[in-house]
Amino acid sequence: MKQLEDKIRKVGRPLSEHVLLVDMFLNHQVDCTLMRDIGREFARLFADAGITRVVTIEASGIAPSVMTALELNVPLVILKKARSVILDGGVIQTEVFSFTKQSSYQLTLKPEFVHVGDRVLLIDDFLANGEAATGAAELIKKAGGTVAGIGIVISKNFQPGLKRLRESGYRVEALAEIEEMGEGYVRFAGEAK
Ligand code: 5GP
Repeated sequence: MKQLEDKIRKVGRPLSEHVLLVDMFLNHQVDCTLMRDIGREFARLFADAGITRVVTIEASGIAPSVMTALELNVPLVILKKARSVILDGGVIQTEVFSFTKQSSYQLTLKPEFVHVGDRVLLIDDFLANGEAATGAAELIKKAGGTVAGIGIVISKNFQPGLKRLRESGYRVEALAEIEEMGEGYVRFAGEAK
């Protein structure tokens, strides 16, 4: 998505070869016009997938997923990150290792918010190792839903997430695919070295 790539180039800040800071437009300050267009693009890409529900992970997935759910006219469910196992029932959880925080959390869903037979579009801001998306897909399936698609705003293709999810059989669409980055530069898929 050209508009997104331009934004990343203009205000995204590679903190290292592995972490891109996007707090200028995605997860601290939010460019709502861009989010609306991202929502439209995901809705277009998954128009044939019979989506009945959008699921995302707090907090950075919320902005793009709200716009996607709005475009598809379906409910949105936000998976929570809990510090520890919740013992007093009513939720399902799976442990996820956070790439950015380098620690684990319990991804948490009240199963009543994903129905048996739901065709879910999972949306997240970044794909690195695929841990968060894999955990989220597990919870959706445990609740009785089908992961009909995974929409990622930014995939860092030099990390294994995209390949891993596709090899697991998921239909994954990424709006910006970064092949390589470092201080002051980003190279997207399809661009020459
Ligand atoms: P994964 O689980 O695929 O290893 O990492 C994906 C999660 O880590 C995303 O939900 C995202 O919030 C966070 N993440 C991974 N890489 C980056 C990055 O380069 N920048 C930011 N801001 N978040 C990232």
